[in-house]
Amino acid sequence: MTRVVDTHRQVFGSDPEGVWSAPGRVNLIGEHTDYNDGLVLPIALPQRTDAACSPRADDLLRVWSVQTDELVEVALADVGPGRPEGWAAYVAGVLWALRAAGHEVRGLDVTVDSAVPVGAGLSSSAALECAVGAAASDLFGLGLLADDAGRAALAAGCVRAENEVAGAPTGGMDQSAALLCRVDHALLLDCRSGATEHVPFDLASDGTASGHGTTAGDGSASGSGTESGDGAPSGHVLLVTDTRAEHSLNDGQYGERRSSCEQAAAELGVAALRDVDPKDLDDALARLSDDVLRRRTRHIVTEIARVRACVEALRAGDLAGVGRLFDASHASLRDDYEVSCAELDASVEAARGAGALGARMTGGGFGGSSIALLPAGAVDDAVRATTAAFAERGWREPRCFVVTAGVAAGRDA
Ligand code: ADP
Ligand code: MG
Repeated sequence: MTRVVDTHRQVFGSDPEGVWSAPGRVNLIGEHTDYNDGLVLPIALPQRTDAACSPRADDLLRVWSVQTDELVEVALADVGPGRPEGWAAYVAGVLWALRAAGHEVRGLDVTVDSAVPVGAGLSSSAALECAVGAAASDLFGLGLLADDAGRAALAAGCVRAENEVAGAPTGGMDQSAALLCRVDHALLLDCRSGATEHVPFDLASDGTASGHGTTAGDGSASGSGTESGDGAPSGHVLLVTDTRAEHSLNDGQYGERRSSCEQAAAELGVAALRDVDPKDLDDALARLSDDVLRRRTRHIVTEIARVRACVEALRAGDLAGVGRLFDASHASLRDDYEVSCAELDASVEAARGAGALGARMTGGGFGGSSIALLPAGAVDDAVRATTAAFAERGWREPRCFVVTAGVAAGRDA
């Protein structure tokens, strides 16, 4: 945070009015379910994007990023679909969307600095949008951070910024995670209704064992871990591995998966694949016109069921069960949905070989990151095994880090 303030002083010649930040996220389970009206279960990462900001009296936006070492200036009146181009669209788009929602928003001087790896599937884009959105809400008196309803409205604006101004077709999971997650909890998000629940996710203190999820809007900022029966920590961790692999097939494949799901839903006469009851899956599969649609449908229907089962397992403190669900999710994404890649498969297998309770690719696939649920004592082995597996195949060195469930966007200083 000091770095963002120092940089702001150097670039703009004065102290910022304040510093806001928003987290990256990792999805525990529920992959490719968002556009099927399904369920997702992200946590906020400890890695965050900082935005040092000062309000301006005019309508100019000036934004500097430590990651790009570049100053972009744009008048708010000139912001719109495709304008500005490049990374500043994520920042300008938020102010544009807030204005479009009827809020009185002026210009800003913004300095951005991020610890969220960019392009690793950990949602640096939403962290950037939500840090700036949080700043705009406070600096222009919009009050959107005060409760979950306001935060959900701000998330919707950040989604519009990403879809319409930056031109990236994404669902709403990332922005909801960055604005609604609570410390030591995962966010169960129903992508049809927008309803949320906070599910205990505190591996270190075994807080998963006794807590029940709280519904959105109860105002509590965080949950504290509860002790396990003997008071000892359960000693598990979540390890994220950024494979640093990027496969260019990504865009076309994403569109193909979406349209397959739409086609399958149309053939089955349902609004979305979420409406297929897992009990009726075999019947539904028999009615589909081809095998690819069958496999895509089987992934979506079983994956949504796995999200529900994972929530149950977390609430029961059944980490072995969570691990099995991670493994089943990975197999389904690899074999039925066909969105994994060699690097993701290798990272998952290396973690399992080192003693993981379960591991899976996370995010859209074809690169990006995987997660593994590990006994704390097995982390070093897992990192060594993953690094060795990648070196052996001549791939770029992966980046591994242990994460906990962090807090949503807010003001830091
Ligand atoms: P992910 O969100 O998974 O990291 P995306 O492709 O959705 O990947 O978003 C990455 C893009 O977001 C970058 O290419 C850049 O345009 C923008 N971005 C994210 N963080 C920063 C940052 N700190 N500074 C400048 N641009 C950023
Ligand atoms: Mg993104």
